[in-house]
Amino acid sequence: MTKLSLHDVTHRYPARGRRGSIEALGPVSLSVGDGEFVAIIGPSGCGKSTLLRLIAGLDGPSAGQISLNGRRVTAPVPECGMVFQQFALFPWLSVRRNVGFALRPGMAREKTVDRLLDAVGLAGFADQFPAQLSGGMQQRAALARALAPDPEILLLDEPFGALDQQTRGLIQEMLEALWRTARRTMLLVTHDIDEALYLADRVLVMSARPGTILKEVDVPFPRPRAPTQRTDSAHAALKGRISDILRAEVMASMESSRDDRDI
Ligand code: ADP
Repeated sequence: MTKLSLHDVTHRYPARGRRGSIEALGPVSLSVGDGEFVAIIGPSGCGKSTLLRLIAGLDGPSAGQISLNGRRVTAPVPECGMVFQQFALFPWLSVRRNVGFALRPGMAREKTVDRLLDAVGLAGFADQFPAQLSGGMQQRAALARALAPDPEILLLDEPFGALDQQTRGLIQEMLEALWRTARRTMLLVTHDIDEALYLADRVLVMSARPGTILKEVDVPFPRPRAPTQRTDSAHAALKGRISDILRAEVMASMESSRDDRDI
């Protein structure tokens, strides 16, 4: 079943301090199945965050259509959870209150919060405040908070980009397990090809700005994914393919920033 569909979606931003606009994205057409995990990878500035913002209904596309559950997205979508690179926790609330923030008070909230804190390995830190936690712990709390209202679709914008390699690996394992349990539709923007191949069912490789989908790569590895997958030859081969496409696009993105395609 199709959860999310985009048809010829483009986005332009007004150019700062001058006339005209910046072509940031598209046209992008895309269909994401219910419960599918899709990773999006592409050069910096190609419109990945813009794409997620449009899907969440935080901005309207300049042209084209986005539908979630067959309904056109025209306003912020309550069924969307989001996690960003900046942890975005409320510093004045405990971990428990952060995670339960979007839920109505009551027994069900406490149960959900306990379950999620357990799943992200923060059961012993419920009463701590964000400033008392490491970056990795804060991001686990942010992940738990985004999952607490049981969103139909979770949008992750480079959520692990600021974390060290070790911590990142652990959180990726947690996210893979959470996805397997909850089977929610997830879209992950990442620069890390290993991360995309470890987590996703499908990887979309985007072109330089204005970002379009250059290539869709199905990830054939069985679940549950093993952390050792990264050392397999099939993983390395797929990584090499994606890396080659990306390298060409990063060069193109450098060219396009030189001859500024703004209009
Ligand atoms: P990515 O996430 O792939 O790095 P973004 O979606 O953040 O790319 O940005 C795509 C392009 O749109 C970039 O050139 C960026 O500078 C531009 N852009 C993003 N947000 C705005 C904005 N609010 N106003 C003007 N330009 C923007």
